[in-house]
Amino acid sequence: MSKIRVLADHVANQIAAGEVVERPASVAKELVENSIDAGATRITIEIEAGGRRLLKVSDDGEGMVRDDAILAFERHATSKIRETDDLDAIGTLGFRGEALASIASVAKVELTTCIEGAGAATRVAIDGGRMRDVKDAAHPRGTTIAVRDLFFNIPARRKFLRSEATETYHLTNLVTHYALAHPEIAFTFVNNGREVVRTAPAKDLRERAYQIFGEEFLKNLLEVDGGETGVARVSGFVSAPRDRRTSRDSQYLFVNRRFVRDRMIGRALSEAYRSILPYGVYPAALLFIETPLEEVDVNVHPAKTEVRFRRQAAVADAVREAVRAALASASYVSPPEPPTMIATAAVSSIAPQPRIEFVPPPPAPPPVPRPPVEPSGDEIARDLEIMLRSASRSVQSASLPPLNSAEKIAREVTPETISTNIRPLGQLDESFIIATDDQGLLLIDQHVAHERILFDKYRALEAERRTDAQQMLVPETFDLTPAQTAVFDDLLPELEKYGFELMRLSGRTVAIRAVPADLPGSEARNMLFELLETVDAEKKSAAPETMRDEIAASLACHAAIKVNMPLAPEKMRWLIDRLLQTSSPTTCPHGRPVILRLSTRDILKGFHRI
Ligand code: ADP
Ligand code: MG
Repeated sequence: MSKIRVLADHVANQIAAGEVVERPASVAKELVENSIDAGATRITIEIEAGGRRLLKVSDDGEGMVRDDAILAFERHATSKIRETDDLDAIGTLGFRGEALASIASVAKVELTTCIEGAGAATRVAIDGGRMRDVKDAAHPRGTTIAVRDLFFNIPARRKFLRSEATETYHLTNLVTHYALAHPEIAFTFVNNGREVVRTAPAKDLRERAYQIFGEEFLKNLLEVDGGETGVARVSGFVSAPRDRRTSRDSQYLFVNRRFVRDRMIGRALSEAYRSILPYGVYPAALLFIETPLEEVDVNVHPAKTEVRFRRQAAVADAVREAVRAALASASYVSPPEPPTMIATAAVSSIAPQPRIEFVPPPPAPPPVPRPPVEPSGDEIARDLEIMLRSASRSVQSASLPPLNSAEKIAREVTPETISTNIRPLGQLDESFIIATDDQGLLLIDQHVAHERILFDKYRALEAERRTDAQQMLVPETFDLTPAQTAVFDDLLPELEKYGFELMRLSGRTVAIRAVPADLPGSEARNMLFELLETVDAEKKSAAPETMRDEIAASLACHAAIKVNMPLAPEKMRWLIDRLLQTSSPTTCPHGRPVILRLSTRDILKGFHRI
């Protein structure tokens, strides 16, 4: 007897729903995308009980005629593509034609829709994939879809839903994403009858970001505008290096206005911060990548949150260079080195693309941007508050000193506020140089200052292919762990570029015969060990540039003068002069501040003189 049978449609739809409908936020995503594809200028999202009980999306888009409203719920029913060839250049957010079918198979759905000039609207009701009712209704031009009792017919899936607060958080996040990607659309988000987000149509991303995150968030961002037409235009905002997050949660990445989670773009972004942010610490970003439609395959993932670029490496370069240029224009890094000049020239010769425009912030803030938040304990309000606040708050990784601890009295000196006229006075705790400049009293961390100097020196030597090595009188040896051997073999050629001479003796024993200049022989073993420990799989696959930075940073750290070390006045002078000549005198290669300033003004204030 044969054993194979073709699954009934409703079973197939439920299986497809497993991929498309993960949680209420994924339903909202599909519905909002449909509204955007329908040309809506106004989208309202209403939820109850974290979207489980009700999730309703209304728009003023083009609507559907009755036949379409019924057909829309069939699997593979779409108005957006016709032929396979259409997949090569997808200009709409949807195209798979399975979202409505999937959603309707796992919930109770009511769709009401009306096209311009039609006598009556159509209402279609479907429960768990079964059509219940089709009738006339009243509705202005546009579409409203109400999804009730998600997973009512699949208890197993319902159990996987998280708390109302969590689901609401995901929904809020989703609305935020789409609102950012589409400033021209007015978004309203209502939770349990209360309006939590209402944004008027905005003229550009900056205004929309202002509406959503507020002024504080924008103030600290650097504008990105670069890339190359034909490959990838890159625009948006990134955070300054002093703003640090411990996860990628504050990175909003969009490809042709589609919100994506893309590791490649995330990595390119991190590489732009190489040498100013340590690994494991992430910048915040709102990055919009615009590519020609045929350059990107969006049909990779059922939920369409991943994309594949035809010229992956070129896109990564564009992102990295555009972000790097933004950092360079704020003097956080030096402008790109000669080998990348070609890319930069191409970038700067391109006129900004009209689709996303950035203008200076409006003199008077646009009205009503902040969502009304009541302290009454309503979970969504709290959630949203937390989310919006975390967007503008820096989170420090455990190894970094608390960012704001000294801020009230002494502030981090930034590239904009550094002065070239620094005069050392002495040392505090044999660890910090006390100095003055035109604006006040300075504290310079001697270790990180020297780290920055050495880092730049090692990188320059390596780039010029000059090594400056010192032979060890007695070669030191050390043993690799099995896991380290593979990493070691990969690292060896890079280490040699810096002047290391390392020899694998028998088995896993390594002899250190020469080390880069400035690195005390006694530190070589520690440094190599640490490096081998920290270079994990992700970093191994990172760009060679990043790898080289990692080595230079590690070398600099081990070769730099330590804290608790007395310095002669000449040595302090030398440190300061050299520091000022580096690419980034205000941040060390690991992203820490180098100089703190107590301003004369604050001193005067402290003594009640002003
Ligand atoms: P897809 O978006 O991939 O085409 P869906 O299942 O999401 O598939 O939607 C099926 C079709 O229903 C769409 O192609 C579109 O024609 C129509 N549709 C869905 N939502 C709306 C809406 N809000 N306004 C107008 N038409 C819509
Ligand atoms: Mg769709």
